Amino acid sequence: MRTDMQIACRYCHEGKMSQEFYNETFKFGRSSLAVEGLVRFRCNHCASIMVKPSQLEHNSELIELAKSASPSFVSLGTLREFRMKYNLSQREASKLIGAGEGAFGKYESGENLSAPTAKLIRAALTYPEVVRLLADEANMQIDFSDVHPTMSSPIS
Ligand SMILES: [Zn+2]
Repeated sequence: MRTDMQIACRYCHEGKMSQEFYNETFKFGRSSLAVEGLVRFRCNHCASIMVKPSQLEHNSELIELAKSASPSFVSLGTLREFRMKYNLSQREASKLIGAGEGAFGKYESGENLSAPTAKLIRAALTYPEVVRLLADEANMQIDFSDVHPTMSSPIS
């Protein structure tokens, strides 16, 4: 991304805006996420800030990348895969992991998980033994003869 570009300031009409790099900390789940290398324009006269669509795109990519590296991150695809693999409704999946009744519905509509919950779901997706243990603890019957194979299954 070019850093030497200058544009006339549309706010004060006197200064020039040039691109600068900046860092920002976002709230993500219960933790905060520091993202470096974000870009925006700043005016050398009035200090107004402007973000062009191409910069916004660049920034969003960096933020998404940082999110996916966070321990609290579980993608929507992973959540659905987990429920499909063990034939669980949202309500059953919530009960299984010991969360509130509506928890999975919230996760699947984009609410952030806590890092321990995210770890538990990732472990349960990969290892049916984890689900067996959780099902015992929650007094749930899960038919493991009908577990759907997924991309995340270990190769046996
Ligand atoms: Zn200005």
